[in-house]
Amino acid sequence: SSWWSGVQMGPPDVILGVTEAFRRDTNPKKINLGVGAYRDDDGKPYVLPCVRKAEEKLRAKNLDKEYAPIGGTAEFCKRSIELALGEGSEVVQNGLNATIQGISGTGSLRVGAALLSNFFPANKVVYLPSPSWGNHTPIFKHAGLDVKSYRYYDPKTCGLDFAGALEDISKIPEKSIILLHACAHNPTGVDPSKEQWAELSNLIKKKNLFPFFDMAYQGFATGSVDNDAYAVRLFVKEGHLISLCQSYAKNMGLYGERAGAFSIISDSKDEADRVMSQIKILIRALYSNPPINGARIVTEILSDPQLRSDWLKEVKGMADRIISVRTTLRDNLKKEGSTRNWEHITNQIGMFCFTGMNPQQVEKLTKDFSIYLTKDGRISMAGVTSKNVDYLAHAVHEATK
Ligand code: PLP
Repeated sequence: SSWWSGVQMGPPDVILGVTEAFRRDTNPKKINLGVGAYRDDDGKPYVLPCVRKAEEKLRAKNLDKEYAPIGGTAEFCKRSIELALGEGSEVVQNGLNATIQGISGTGSLRVGAALLSNFFPANKVVYLPSPSWGNHTPIFKHAGLDVKSYRYYDPKTCGLDFAGALEDISKIPEKSIILLHACAHNPTGVDPSKEQWAELSNLIKKKNLFPFFDMAYQGFATGSVDNDAYAVRLFVKEGHLISLCQSYAKNMGLYGERAGAFSIISDSKDEADRVMSQIKILIRALYSNPPINGARIVTEILSDPQLRSDWLKEVKGMADRIISVRTTLRDNLKKEGSTRNWEHITNQIGMFCFTGMNPQQVEKLTKDFSIYLTKDGRISMAGVTSKNVDYLAHAVHEATK
């Protein structure tokens, strides 16, 4: 028999499964609300005009295809950490960050997980919000870390369970790792307020926890990259020595280009340099060096004042479209005669809306209306357009009345 005869069939990826079922459906009214990729108001993938312009500039430079440095180029790394911490950040000026280009957000998380697994000096357990992005648990476990959770989402209010979060975090053993979504929490769309972030920062400091930020949606939540970096900048200002994962998949629409970054912030340049040397050794064994094309596009956009200002407008355009379609969906549900409270549709933020629909209601949406989403009731707002929002509101009302 073959070497692999004992291998069992693994379960399909839930989100890709939703897309496959959508593809098979022949109903012309079908809607795919599963995927976490932005769509324009015609439901089409969107390449940002600033990205096209950056590509033209790069083509004109006729660059070679040599390997990038193990941690990516210095300019990409500097532009990335400055985007997160703000121009003129003292941390960057004093060389207190160790930043590398990762393979988008996922690869950056995986490098961070490897660093923690090999070098974190205390409790190697990562506490995730419940729920969290479905890939967080496997990424950390794959690197050999233990994963636990703290309360985050309250199904009764479709909002934040702040009291539950504080209570659970206060019980986390000191010197553990806590994962925080910097903005536009996936899958719930529920973010803490500024006051709540301040309280979280105090508690996390009191408990001496290590804050591990995942920022996959900077600019995508409110339309402003500075607003969306609020929590990260607050924690740094408050003296937390954080780590941070960034992704350009959503905010530059560079999904398949795989450009992102991982950073740790230290309290001395010497320590940052030592950590950097170890991160490079880990990367060398994982994939040697990162892909160059997406990182070149990002660097071009962030370093050219005109392209950068175009980008800030374009990312705001994406966020604004999503915010406006949230309002339309909520209004239309009311017009349909729904007496449920749908306030959370507009309170929640970013790509996703946790509707509060149960698996039976989701099944009805799919079976009777060809509307595809994950069983947890999460809809990707990016798939909602001015053309399908009436149909969607009608269907959601029919499924939930
Ligand atoms: N982190 C969160 C919370 C996400 O939602 C995503 C993408 O959906 C990622 C990280 C990583 O995405 P990518 O690897 O495409 O940058």
